[in-house]
Amino acid sequence: MANHHSEVAVIIGGGISGLSCLNAFLDRGIPAVLIEATHVGIPKMCGEFIAPPAVKLLEQWEIGPIQEIHHVEFRARKNKFNMNFSHYAGGFSRSEAELLLAKRALNKGGIIKEKTSIDKLIPATEDLPYQLELSTGEIITTKTAIFATGKFAAQQTAVSMPYYGIKLHFDKIVSPNRLLMFSCLNAYLGIIPINNTVSNCTCLIKKTSSNKILDKNYFYELVQSNDGLQQIFQSIDLNNAKWLVGHAPEFQLKKNPAWPNAFWIGDALAGIHPAIGSGFFHGILSGILAAEYYASMTPDLYHHESILLAKKKLRYSKLIHHILLSPSLGTMVLPFVKKYPGIVNWLLEKIHFA
Ligand SMILES: Cc1cc2nc3c(=O)[nH]c(=O)nc-3n(C[C@H](O)[C@H](O)[C@H](O)COP(=O)(O)OP(=O)(O)OC[C@H]3O[C@@H](n4cnc5c(N)ncnc54)[C@H](O)[C@@H]3O)c2cc1C
Repeated sequence: MANHHSEVAVIIGGGISGLSCLNAFLDRGIPAVLIEATHVGIPKMCGEFIAPPAVKLLEQWEIGPIQEIHHVEFRARKNKFNMNFSHYAGGFSRSEAELLLAKRALNKGGIIKEKTSIDKLIPATEDLPYQLELSTGEIITTKTAIFATGKFAAQQTAVSMPYYGIKLHFDKIVSPNRLLMFSCLNAYLGIIPINNTVSNCTCLIKKTSSNKILDKNYFYELVQSNDGLQQIFQSIDLNNAKWLVGHAPEFQLKKNPAWPNAFWIGDALAGIHPAIGSGFFHGILSGILAAEYYASMTPDLYHHESILLAKKKLRYSKLIHHILLSPSLGTMVLPFVKKYPGIVNWLLEKIHFA
């Protein structure tokens, strides 16, 4: 059994946040190793909207080409509200973004261990480093651990999944350069182009008391419940679409243990409601901040700042999430925001969206 002491930072989890963090470490000339339980780039339940500040960060790393999104249209029943982004947002396949981030990191000398999970984790103390027993039999000790494990906790605990998620890629551009957001009863969905020919549609559906089997029929029922969706999907052949159907977790700040020199990033720090499409930005930014605070040896400051940022995002994302889950609320709100569009811009600025 190999056993070595490592002074390199260890990142656990190879999603957007872990891979961004790895790149941020390497950009600062700090060696880091990333451990991913599955493969980088495997399909996961998510939307593919990239908020404007995240587009800027990814483009600095030459990740792309990202489909430019200049407008968003919200629809609740017969009401519509359009707005323009002051800097364009993006549409991009998340799998592709992860693969390109991994490629960039490997070119810069980063180490990525795929199909490797943590079988046992002994947390660090003030005197002793973390001890990570990997599924390969290797044992890594490190003073600093960066947790980018997404919805999963650092140690195996059950995750509550109060939502269903349905995601599909289909060969048609419904509205170029535009995100379409539909508010339905107990559900919302977004449609966005992710390249010149393919669109992504992701729905978040609140689980209700009915214990139905999770399948594509949820999607067809949603489409039937909304005139606008019916119009869009009547001319699209979904037989060739790529589907992903699954469960989605609670969106909230995680209760993470106060281990020394631990950095929690992305969804491992907080799952942000998809209503504001800011999860990737939160993952990328927290990954970059972790590298910065690691370099200045101030993990406690990171902890403080990252929690403040996440709480702010959660406050706004929760509000918009609840409005989108209720078309009757949306119907009340949309005429008001149409009259005072400045309020929406203010809100978007607040959540790093514009
Ligand atoms: C329905 C839905 C729609 C969404 N839409 C959008 C959107 O349009 N735009 C947006 O910005 N955000 C969206 N989000 C949020 C976004 O998907 C997440 O914020 C983002 O994917 C989180 O990335 P992450 O790297 O933190 O976690 P993940 O992508 O979940 O990555 C975590 C990784 O850690 C690995 N891992 C876990 N445990 C271990 C272990 N013990 N050892 C090794 N590896 C481990 C996993 O295999 C996984 O690859 C959406 C979310 C949902 C649920």
